[in-house]
Amino acid sequence: MTNKEERKRILTGIRPTGALHLGHYAGALENWLRLQDEYECFFLIADYQVSDKADDIDSVREAVHEIALDWLAVGLDPERSHFAIESLIPEHAELTLWLSWWLPLGMLQRNPTLKAEMAALESKSVPVAFFTYPVMQVANILMPKAHLVPVGEDQLPHIEMTREVARRFNRMFGEVFPEPEGLVGRVPRLVGTDGNAKMGKSLDNAIQLKDDAETVTKKVKSMYTDPTRLRATDPGHVEGNPVFMYHDAFNPNAEEVQDLKDRYVVGKVGDVEVKEKLATVLNNLLDPIRERRAHFESKPKLVRDALAAGTGHAKKVAEETMREVRAALKLNYLD
Ligand code: ATP
Ligand code: MG
Repeated sequence: MTNKEERKRILTGIRPTGALHLGHYAGALENWLRLQDEYECFFLIADYQVSDKADDIDSVREAVHEIALDWLAVGLDPERSHFAIESLIPEHAELTLWLSWWLPLGMLQRNPTLKAEMAALESKSVPVAFFTYPVMQVANILMPKAHLVPVGEDQLPHIEMTREVARRFNRMFGEVFPEPEGLVGRVPRLVGTDGNAKMGKSLDNAIQLKDDAETVTKKVKSMYTDPTRLRATDPGHVEGNPVFMYHDAFNPNAEEVQDLKDRYVVGKVGDVEVKEKLATVLNNLLDPIRERRAHFESKPKLVRDALAAGTGHAKKVAEETMREVRAALKLNYLD
């Protein structure tokens, strides 16, 4: 491992709205795992950003622990990386506020991810926090002066915004923040089991990393597939078919995938077989993750300690950054 001080930093986060799913794995976690040695990593549980769960804080509390367990289960290492809880580092809220002085509302209104999320809210009343959450993401990334932000594709507009804010801040107040790069995973946006464009924790269309084999098989069996195909002998569509997208994403046996596709398009294989093979592939991938999860589940102190140590370290880093920010903004009125 390179010396800690020499390593550039990664900041990336997850909202505590539920346990992690395959979309997180292929879209984000794989990269996090790979980069743990090369970068000093800050993995943030973004509990300030769950205003949609404001009436169910018990579920947020549970999700904080579920996520930490999932992280340990996939192999993230709290000895090398910092697992941090956002609201226990209130500097995030402070920086969000200062940044909001210079972030024009138009920038938020143009943000395509925000637009899509807003449309999904339909007629529900929208809390102000909905507009501040992307600003807070900017603050999250800038706080440890991160160079790299490995995320799913839906988060790229927020990173673009972060770059703009960093540039502006540095121009106006002197060089404080690096301009971070986004890094999208192998599968930029995994579709949901229901055919929705994105598997999401809050969308009820996810295969969770902690799902047992039976649950995974059941979810795969009820997956959305080619709606134009009524019988196994009908020629089917592979393009845009979630079952094949998952095969492409997770099946290490390229020959098997090609054979299934070849037979599917000429009506020589049924959905049942394609799905059975997929369930096997997913269960093989998840088995070691489940095993490690069970180990940490039986040792809750380890999970708690990982969160406490990571949060403690991230808080120190945040305090340093805020000292610099306050000095740059000339906010030290009493000095
Ligand atoms: P929610 O539905 O509550 O917003 P989520 O599933 O979108 O939850 P987040 O906590 O918002 O999860 O996102 C955590 C990270 O995982 C982000 O970098 C996000 O881009 C990535 N991610 C989430 N879902 C997917 C997906 N289906 N495919 C690829 N990456 C994803
Ligand atoms: Mg999300």
